[in-house]
Amino acid sequence: MSIKVASNGYGVIGRRIADAVKAQPDMELVGIAKVSPDYKAKLAVEKGYKIFSADEKGLEKFRGNGIEPAGTSKDLIEKADIIIDSTPGNIGPSNKEVYADLGKKALFQGGEKHDLTGFSFVAQCNYGDAAGKQFTRVVSCNTTGLCRVLNALDQEFGVDRARVVIARRAADPDETTKGPIDAVSLDPVHLPSHHGPDVNTVMPHINISTMAIKIPTTHMHLHSAMIQLKDKTASSDRVIDTLNRTSRIMLVNSKSGIKSTGQVLDLGRELGRPRNDLFESIIWEDSVSIVESEVFFFMGVHQESIVIPENIDAIRAVMQTKSAKDSIHITNQILGIRK
Ligand code: NAD
Repeated sequence: MSIKVASNGYGVIGRRIADAVKAQPDMELVGIAKVSPDYKAKLAVEKGYKIFSADEKGLEKFRGNGIEPAGTSKDLIEKADIIIDSTPGNIGPSNKEVYADLGKKALFQGGEKHDLTGFSFVAQCNYGDAAGKQFTRVVSCNTTGLCRVLNALDQEFGVDRARVVIARRAADPDETTKGPIDAVSLDPVHLPSHHGPDVNTVMPHINISTMAIKIPTTHMHLHSAMIQLKDKTASSDRVIDTLNRTSRIMLVNSKSGIKSTGQVLDLGRELGRPRNDLFESIIWEDSVSIVESEVFFFMGVHQESIVIPENIDAIRAVMQTKSAKDSIHITNQILGIRK
């Protein structure tokens, strides 16, 4: 049986989710909903996607731009077993009411608060706990990247304490009006940042504190991680071996010419990934070092794509159609994630 999936929102995340759903053997994309009949809408129609206007008012706007919508987002929601809501943060609460009225399951994104669903998801950490949930939140890009790594290290060595400094991309590539253009913003000035508590929505037992700054780049976040391990005998070789064995972690090395996020993005192109996407947490292997059982490393997070495999797995997890192992395997294979 194919799971009928609707994508409500068709921006940075929604477009990628729609394409990823379309590619899964056990899912059917019943349509996408968006606000404006722009170039993205036109290309979605060319791809054969059924397009729905976010509201009644928008129907005429779509028609005026040569696009015949299949209805409004309410019509789309009715057709779906599950809705992936990738509208901008804080629209979730009003959309949730609509999904609840129609008795539908929905996934929300990391821009929404944990309280909206009471359950936050990362496939490798808590797949089984999503079973049967009506509402689930797939956590943000930074939280996803951190949870994958902390989970692997915690299982192998025990994590005593994690401290992470995150240099955040200022905007996504198409957000031409956002800055800073020539500054580093303290984001926030008052510490710690929200990223640590967000990790705790998935892994409540991890002692973690974070700081963040915003830098003038659009393509990736960069984490500087300092993680105190419980196992005092841990070596950098064992840490590298653990990360190497963990799904959705990709190790890169400066010896092969990858010394910046720019080269990581180029790697995405060379791998032939759609839109240069890098779904993995990218860790510089030669940055992994241990000082008095504290492990240090740099990690890159491609904000536009890292949560896509998590959304696909969350669909199967809440619909209870596959085990975590099988779902992660299928998703990885279809998206071209090597392990
Ligand atoms: P976006 O602005 O690129 O796209 C939002 C989409 O939702 C647009 O297509 C817009 O037309 C549509 N939309 C707006 N209001 C709507 C409504 N009422 N009904 C239907 N569609 C509506 O946003 P995004 O960057 O894709 O972010 C979406 C969510 O994903 C947010 O919660 C965000 O925090 C989260 N997220 C974003 C990133 C990122 O780097 N961009 C990474 C991880 C998670």
